Amino acid sequence: MRAAAEAAALARELRRHLRDAFEDDIASVSTNFAKTPAFGSSGAAPTALTGSKEEASQKLAEAIRACRSCPLGRARRNAVPGEGSLAADVVFIGEGPGLDEDRLGRPFVGRAGQLLDRILASIGLSRDAVYIANMVKCHPMKDSSSPDSRGNDRPPSPDEMEACRGYIEAQIRLIVPRFIVTLGGVASKALLREETPISKLRGRWREFFLEGLAAPIRLLPTYHPAALLRQPELKRAVWEDMKTLRDALGGSGCP
Ligand code: SF4
Repeated sequence: MRAAAEAAALARELRRHLRDAFEDDIASVSTNFAKTPAFGSSGAAPTALTGSKEEASQKLAEAIRACRSCPLGRARRNAVPGEGSLAADVVFIGEGPGLDEDRLGRPFVGRAGQLLDRILASIGLSRDAVYIANMVKCHPMKDSSSPDSRGNDRPPSPDEMEACRGYIEAQIRLIVPRFIVTLGGVASKALLREETPISKLRGRWREFFLEGLAAPIRLLPTYHPAALLRQPELKRAVWEDMKTLRDALGGSGCP
């Protein structure tokens, strides 16, 4: 009960912060984004963002970098908003930044990120052609008093993901991709709000509904690249999933 109450309080605080961060901007951004509530699954923002998608994305990144709405914000070195093309057909979503990402403020730049680059290249995609982000924007640590220690990573908690959820939903509303690929069980289950193991979720198309979007987005869960580093036998499954994505994109990968 206490955890749920704390999560609800964090979500309220986040929505308040987002409204404050954006209320000066407003009106109609571009196409789909302008038609939707700006943030959050339950808290429609009173306004939409003005300017270009790039300006809206920059404002969102500034809000994330200023955010302290959950405990992860206290120990991080850098928040990691996400990066890539705002016109991407595919958004890749992991669970949260690790040590390397925390140091650089960029998503998927460590060993798992290098593997993700190779996975993208295997189906003709590049980091510039997609968008890459995480469920939480700050580094979840086992011991927050040692932010520079290797091996200090942990998955984000459900409360932390709920507190941060408005940001990833805002990014999805901004980009409106054709496809979402969730990387790993933590991100897949959190975004879909279900408990099915990743071994059963992976490789099967799902529909992701988001308030304010005219149509659901097709979502494909697969394993996280970090899992492939620990268990190379999972690579075949990810390759099959990437072929599924490539086929959906039209067979040639990057449009
Ligand atoms: S993880 Fe998300 S909600 Fe928590 S402090 Fe960072 S940006 Fe804010």
